[in-house]
Formats: sequence, structure tokens, C-alpha cells
Amino acid sequence: MDFAIVNGLLKRAPGKGLVHAPFALTPAPITPRDNHRIEELTAPFNRLVLALSRDIGFLGEVLAGVAESDGFTRDLLAMAAAREALQPLRLFLTRGDYFLQAGGAGEPPLIRQVELNTISAGYAGLAGRVNLLHRQLFAGTPQAEELIHNDPIGPISRGVSRAFGHYGHPEGCLLMIVQPGDGNIFDQRMLEIALREEGIEVERMTLEELAERGRLREGHLTVGGRIAAIVYFRAAYTPDDFTSPDTFRARGMIENSSAVSIPDIATQLAGTKKIQQLLAEAGTLEKFCLPPDAALLRSTFAGIYSMEEPIQGPEGSLPAWRAAMARPGEFVMKPQREGGGNNLFDDELRAALAGSSAEERRPFILMERIAPVTHTALLVKEGVAEETLCVSEIGRFGLLLAHGGEELLNVDAGYLVRTKPRELREGGITAGYGFLNNLCTASAQP
Ligand code: ADP
Ligand code: MG
Repeated sequence: MDFAIVNGLLKRAPGKGLVHAPFALTPAPITPRDNHRIEELTAPFNRLVLALSRDIGFLGEVLAGVAESDGFTRDLLAMAAAREALQPLRLFLTRGDYFLQAGGAGEPPLIRQVELNTISAGYAGLAGRVNLLHRQLFAGTPQAEELIHNDPIGPISRGVSRAFGHYGHPEGCLLMIVQPGDGNIFDQRMLEIALREEGIEVERMTLEELAERGRLREGHLTVGGRIAAIVYFRAAYTPDDFTSPDTFRARGMIENSSAVSIPDIATQLAGTKKIQQLLAEAGTLEKFCLPPDAALLRSTFAGIYSMEEPIQGPEGSLPAWRAAMARPGEFVMKPQREGGGNNLFDDELRAALAGSSAEERRPFILMERIAPVTHTALLVKEGVAEETLCVSEIGRFGLLLAHGGEELLNVDAGYLVRTKPRELREGGITAGYGFLNNLCTASAQP
């Protein structure tokens, strides 16, 4: 517990004050080959997001149906369409999330993408700290050799610093847009401190505060007279963050400024579940990627369906939503939301679909439920350790800097492992289900 606290593995919990973030004491095993295969996906997925985010016509067209039933998507689309293009520089901080699923006999596991986060991809800071924790705990033992090193904040802050240099106002700052009272504040502070070390001033504020203090001056977003060169979002991915018309105005002000936004709205929309589902349709992914990338990325797709499309199952051909009602345990129903806790499983899924209209179903997609490989782990929460049969979701951080369509930087920046008891359906740390963890090469399984 002392090591966890010394390393900053902390969060604020409502009513409890400062507590340690849940973590595992035993890393998740992976073969070096599978680890490499997952890492290799980051750059092509970033490239795909760049292509998508540059095609607002496509995003608008394919999200129009969802927007009819979902006000948040509608508002985002309207803001993206109204954007005055002032800034050819783009900076993405993404995180692709994956599970390993058992392959056939004698075959390596399948890599299955859960989703690609293009906004507020968190835990880069705490992931580095849980790595430090395990390095300290295992020092001098064979396990130390097998732990896979991880420090995402390093490459991320260096990449952000490069973008800051390209923007060309060294007196400017990075503006971090946060939720009021976010418990995961230390993860954000770790990036903030690393950026200061790079010579970048950081201002934190909520959308509400920006509405009060922000101004547009000659195309630049300014706070207290200082130019915001980069705006980094750790909020604004959920309608709950838009508490007033002022907050929408603040978001629009960012979008219509010269600030480099991580992300701009088009990039945010490129990461929606609906786009993920459409990319899985025959030929769509291939419009946005070169053939080798397309084949590689497609190999990670689980089944993912629009509600009404016919799918084949033991019942014959049924619209996907009817197949999901018949076999709810085999699907996950997802709305166009980020941040965890929004998906529907099992009985909730069935209850939501029973008696639903096509219009009510439209904002959702259905995804095949992935059955990840399991491992045992020692999980620590509120100071108590418990050995549990678990699954681990592996996230890969990616950083992309582009000028127009030209990539200036496109790199993998390290990983996040969230280990959770096998029977839990959702996996978020913030939502309270996941435990921060590391990867170790398979032979190091304790
Ligand atoms: P969010 O944007 O809210 O994070 P995700 O798509 O990442 O939504 O889903 C949240 C969690 O639900 C994941 O972290 C994972 O644990 C679980 N989950 C999502 N999709 C699947 C799936 N297809 N199979 C199994 N579990 C899933
Ligand atoms: Mg997720």
C-alpha cells in the first residue's frame, strides 16, 4: 500500500477522500509475439482515424440516422459542420482497446478490438505508475525481467510538445478541459507535470469556466489574455458535461479557433460506435485505408451489426436485434456514448429491445460478445487483496500529429491493462470495475 501511495496510484473517491486506485499485484501474461501484434495496430488505426476525420461529408451522411434519434450526436455533427477551418494541424491521443480471445487448437489467440477511443483516452499517467509499482515489487526476482516496461506519459508529452512547437506561439498554453470534481485527477496531473517539464504551461478548467473566461481573438482562443495553443479534452465526451447553453458555446468556441484540439469534433465522431460498426461492413474500411492496413485492422474486428441488418444464427436469418433478443448473452448493445457504464448486457439488453421501435433502436449498435482468455490475478481494492479468475483488456495509446493529410508523427505510446473479475461485464477503472495492471511475457505467469 505504501508503494502504491508513494507512486501516486491514487484517486479521489466521493465521501472517502484520497484512496488508492484499484490495482493488480500480478501482471497479465502475454507472449512477446502477441504483444508485438497489438502494438503494431496503433499506427494504422491512427491513420484510419485521420482519413475519417478529414471526411466530414461521410461522417455527416452516415451518422444522420443516429442523429435523428440522438440529440448529442446531432449537436456534435452540427458543430463539426459549422467549423471554420483555421488549423491544418491535428493531434490525436488515442487508445485502442483489445481483448485476446482463445484461437483454435494450437493457434495463437485472436486479437479482438473492443473500441478505439479518440477522446479523453485516460490512464496514461497511472499506467506508468502501476508499472513502477511492479518493477519495485519484483526487483531482484525473475519476474522483473519478464515485466513489459511501460511509461506512456514520456512519449505522449514529447509528442504534445512537438505539436506545441509547430503551433508557433511559445507564450501560449495547453488548456485541459476537465469535469468538475473528476476523481481521476492525478492521472491528469501526471500529464500536466510532464508537460510543464517540456516547458508548456497548462491551464485546467471546466467548459463552464471556459465560457466565462475564454475569448476568440483574431481566430485564437485566449484565456486571461493567453493563447490556448492546444486544447486537451478530459471532458465533453458525454452530454452530462453540457450543463448549459454556455457549455455548448464554449465547445463551439474551441472548435472555431486556431487551437489544436485533442480531439476536434470530427475526430471525436470518427471514434463513435456507429462508425466502428460501419467500418466492419464490406468495403467501407477499404475506402479509408490502403489494402495491407485494411486487412490487418479487419482481422481484429469482432462481429458488429446495425440493429436491423439480417444475421445468420441457429434461428436462421433474423434482424440483428431479434437475434440478440433470442441470445442476449452473445451480444453487447452499445449507444453512442463514451466513458463506461452505458452498454447493455443480458436481461437489460433483452428488456431494452422488447417492444422497441426501429427509431428507438437506431442510436444503438450490437456487438458480438467477446470471450477473453482468462488468468488468475491478485486484485487489490481498498487495501484488501483477493485472488480472482480474471480477464484483461489491453489498451494501446497512440499519438498522431498531422498537417492536413500528411503525418508528421504516428507512434504507439505504451499500454494500459485493465484486469477485472471474469464475471464482470463492463471494465472501466473509473466506473469501479477494473484494476490497473501490467503485461508480462507469458512464461512469467506467477
Ligand atoms: P465505453 O466507450 O463506454 O468505454 P466500451 O465499448 O469500451 O465502451 O465498453 C465498455 C466495457 O464493456 C469494455 O471495457 C469491456 O469490458 C466491455 N465490452 C465492450 N464490448 C465488449 C464485447 N464486444 N465483448 C465483451 N465485453 C465488451
Ligand atoms: Mg471503453
